[in-house]
Amino acid sequence: MTELDELPLRPELRGRTPYGAPQLPATHRLNTNENPHPLPAELLADLGESLGHAALELNRYPDRDAVALRADLAAYLSRTGGVPVEPAQVWAANGSNEVLQQVLQAFGGAGRTALGFTPSYSMHPIIAAGTGTAWVDGHRAADFTIDTDAAVAHVQQMRPDVVFVTSPNNPTGTAVDLDTVAALYEATEGVLVVDEAYAEFARTGTPSSLTLLPGRPRLVVSRTMSKAFGMAGLRLGYLAADPAVVDAIQLVRLPYHLSSLTQAAARTALAHTDALLATVDAVKAQRDRIVAALPGMGLTSVPSDANFILFGHFADAPAAWRALLDRGVLVRDVGLPGWLRVTAGTAEETDAFLTALGEVAPAHR
Ligand code: PMP
Repeated sequence: MTELDELPLRPELRGRTPYGAPQLPATHRLNTNENPHPLPAELLADLGESLGHAALELNRYPDRDAVALRADLAAYLSRTGGVPVEPAQVWAANGSNEVLQQVLQAFGGAGRTALGFTPSYSMHPIIAAGTGTAWVDGHRAADFTIDTDAAVAHVQQMRPDVVFVTSPNNPTGTAVDLDTVAALYEATEGVLVVDEAYAEFARTGTPSSLTLLPGRPRLVVSRTMSKAFGMAGLRLGYLAADPAVVDAIQLVRLPYHLSSLTQAAARTALAHTDALLATVDAVKAQRDRIVAALPGMGLTSVPSDANFILFGHFADAPAAWRALLDRGVLVRDVGLPGWLRVTAGTAEETDAFLTALGEVAPAHR
């Protein structure tokens, strides 16, 4: 067996481990922020038809520019994001991870730097490494918020080529104020990426950074159909930005990166947007139920605009994680001392989680 070390691997990848939540068998898997609600029956029926139709053309390459899909995504954003978005402002790829990779291929790369405010989505530094982009950890306050003045000063000092803001942030759950996003945009000469993978779950009154797009050609807002739309298996992420950003990404995207089956399935799903997003309110209700139950167990949480909650405080979070798993509930240990992250899903999942946590909390907090 050849060891990885024996291969002529790029030095910055040596010693790294691949990203991924442990895929452990558990009755209740509340560790990867998926939407557990089954897809609506009418959507499944329409998917059968649209995929069958697309299959007839599989001997041909797909629409390289995904024009129809981008128009549908623009219409969705225009309807929900608080600002009109044109199809030319939208780009789609296989999950928002691929969108972010393309952004770094175009605006990061060798000799360039990206900065993000940790703890945040751990794929950002990994995608940076994969694209040869140096990474700088920005900081957060003890309550996991971004201190605008400190963040602006850090950006001005480091002059990164790409700045990441995750809003709502993963794993902490809180959305970032638009004032902070706007201040960071002014502070950088680079591209500011707001990763809004969880935007649809935001609490009422939390606006999207999409509203900041007009007049800000270096602002990129990324979204996904993996979370609120409940289509993680589809692999469809997208961004909204100035059309020039979309032109830049076309310089690095692989031709025909988005299969015709993916494009057809995504368009069919978007035609069922209202039915798919109907589960968002149900998920938010379960999130709020979990948040409300924690103090009664002597626990606390970080304010959440997402479909997950960072909760604690535990004397030994890995031990609490294990004790929950022993009771059939798999949550995520994100490596923050004292904290664990749980995905809000169905009422039954909340019941199981709160029952298990009620047993585990007294010995572990
Ligand atoms: N951004 C954030 C903040 C995420 O949590 C995730 C999924 N874990 C993604 C992006 C990537 O999602 P996808 O590639 O499925 O769109």
